Amino acid sequence: MSEDSLRLSFEFFPPKTDEGRIKLAAVRDKLAEFEPDFFSVTYGAGGSTRDNTKNLVKQFNALNAPVAPHLSFGGDDEQTIKALLGEYRDAGVERIVALRGDMPSGVGGSYQLVYANELVAFIREHFGDAFELEVAAYPEIHPQAKSYEDDVRYLKGKFDAGADNAITQYFFNPDAYFYFLDQCAKVGIDKPIYPGIMPIINFRNLMRFSDSCGADIPRWLRKRLESYEHDPEALRDFGEELITELCETLLEGGAPGLHFYTMNQAEPIARIVNNLGLSE
Ligand code: FAD
Repeated sequence: MSEDSLRLSFEFFPPKTDEGRIKLAAVRDKLAEFEPDFFSVTYGAGGSTRDNTKNLVKQFNALNAPVAPHLSFGGDDEQTIKALLGEYRDAGVERIVALRGDMPSGVGGSYQLVYANELVAFIREHFGDAFELEVAAYPEIHPQAKSYEDDVRYLKGKFDAGADNAITQYFFNPDAYFYFLDQCAKVGIDKPIYPGIMPIINFRNLMRFSDSCGADIPRWLRKRLESYEHDPEALRDFGEELITELCETLLEGGAPGLHFYTMNQAEPIARIVNNLGLSE
């Protein structure tokens, strides 16, 4: 990308089928034209996509595309996570997105989630500075957080444990991000916090996903989206303009870069990045 100081990254989820893998290779090639700082690959709750994530990471890495696997303890023990991190390091991976993750559905009883600050500390303890570490941040606050202050304090804990950067959950209200940055600065967080950007592609999926991850869809936006529910082209055009404007506001306000949740699609992201003039 043209402006060296802005970081650009694209997130994928590992496809489950061969057809999905072929499609994703084309998406990756298209988005690689923007010369992102890295691609990242999500990790399923409870390690359910462990092998799919690992295979995709190694495949990208073999093509010299910088790639950051997402990782959480899930139900795995320390040895399993250590072995996986060792494989990543030996394959040349230099960045990890360290997460607590969520409880996989249908699992109960003794299953314990490991907080992200503990995973960060574990990686630093066993792998020193082998990896640059990203953690998650929530400008509209994590749905299970006890309070705004607690969530910001726990983010500080992730940095104190050794994280280098944070990437946010997506949001549609830029004020939520800027206010969050101010609150983070007040508790002494001085590391970059990159906004996570969700394209508007599918009305129903966006509604469902936003409810579960705690991302707020303001009433005015919900109403506009509802009116385009049966007109995918109009939804696409509206979404592209809205997200381009959101990105412009974020960058003008000092955001250090952008992390796109691609939903494994190239076109909506490519259009926004082109609109922003980040491609020349
Ligand atoms: P944590 O930072 O551990 O926080 C979880 C909750 O516990 C918060 O409410 C926090 O306030 C509280 N808390 C934090 N630390 C402590 C502590 N030490 N003691 C007590 N309470 C604490 N999910 C996936 O399954 N796979 C992915 O690949 C994935 N990628 C993501 C990428 C990004 C950029 C983001 C923003 C989210 C991603 N998620 C992913 C979702 C994420 O796993 C969930 O939001 C999960 O519920 C929290 O993970 P975390 O790392 O933010 O948890």
